[in-house]
Amino acid sequence: MEKNRITSLFEIRYPLIQAGMIWCSGWELASAVSNAGGLGIIGSGSMYPDVFKAHVKKCKAATDKPFAVNIPLLYPNIEDHIKTIIEEKVPVVFSSAGNPGTWTSILKAEGIKVVHVVSSVKFALKAEACGVDAVVAEGFEAGGHNGREETTSLCLIPMVREAISCPLIAAGGIATGRAMLAAMVLGADGVQIGTRFVASEESSAHVAFKSQVTDLGEGGTQLTLKELTPVRMIKNPFFEQIQTAYAQCATKEELAQLLGRGRAKKGMFEGNLEDGELEIGQISGLVREILPARDIVNQIIDEYTVAARLVDSDPRFRF
Ligand code: NDP
Ligand code: NDP
Repeated sequence: MEKNRITSLFEIRYPLIQAGMIWCSGWELASAVSNAGGLGIIGSGSMYPDVFKAHVKKCKAATDKPFAVNIPLLYPNIEDHIKTIIEEKVPVVFSSAGNPGTWTSILKAEGIKVVHVVSSVKFALKAEACGVDAVVAEGFEAGGHNGREETTSLCLIPMVREAISCPLIAAGGIATGRAMLAAMVLGADGVQIGTRFVASEESSAHVAFKSQVTDLGEGGTQLTLKELTPVRMIKNPFFEQIQTAYAQCATKEELAQLLGRGRAKKGMFEGNLEDGELEIGQISGLVREILPARDIVNQIIDEYTVAARLVDSDPRFRF
């Protein structure tokens, strides 16, 4: 089997990474994706330190393949998470939402590979300068927290590719093998996929949220709360409450009060579809069924292979 820069870096079979997603990606999903030949990621942002440690131990027991952990750098007890990562010898860390200068060299000194998630060329350059092993460029289509510049994947991937030379992973709007191929044609060495893995059997998301994701069509999500942290979510009754607040010219403080604490947990983990924050990407409009993670990986890789052959054989591509 041939290797590319991402499969060599992580010692995995396919350059397909499952995104770290709060409340949705625990050890079950991460280990299932790693066992299927991709790189699974535990989303640690929603885990208290003891919960996180338990997930890492269970993931190690469930797979002998490499896996990773995502840490949002603004996490309050980050030192505890870092300690667990080093003690448990987690092979790869994906950091996001913060300054990669703080932890990258400390983790790398322990032999841990570090990847940073960015939404702009400016932060991609900064991450590369901090010595990360790879960069994830995440476009505006992505679910959950999102960049302020609103740069779409179609624009972001080639611009980041032009700016940096380290391995590049594309994210945002990718759920199929065709999109994986497109992202790689634009310059990525691999892809990171979140939304499609929320609708997996192993995802820790509440089943009501997973089902809602498979029912969405085009236009089912929207980016909002730019004054706080921009976030893409389903247009559910909670989203409508936010829109009403905007129409009444709510202040930033009033918006923060309306959001309150633990909205994401309420929606994605507890399945409260009315009052919860339901974070998911635009590409949910293409996700129609809940499948085992292994089947999702295999489908995407099969589609990728067929699409790559099509480019050679289909007259549509010759003019
Ligand atoms: P700030 O804008 O207050 O930035 C905090 C510090 O970290 C600044 O020094 C800033 O650099 C630096 N920084 C922030 N994000 C990055 C990054 N991605 N790469 C490199 N350096 C970074 O932080 P915010 O909380 O407002 O978030 C900023 C960005 O983080 C957003 O654009 C969003 O894309 C991302 N984000 C991602 C989340 C996730 O979990 N995926 C969650 C929340 C935010 P400088 O001084 O140069 O501006
Ligand atoms: P809130 O402030 O609304 O709530 C905090 C949530 O995190 C609670 O549900 C709490 O669980 C849980 N939690 C886990 N560990 C801690 C801790 N040490 N201290 C306090 N709370 C903790 O935040 P959000 O739910 O919006 O976001 C939580 C985290 O996830 C943040 O770090 C944020 O940056 C990150 N995030 C990352 C995203 C991504 O795209 N990767 C998207 C959104 C958020 P409990 O209710 O059981 O107390």
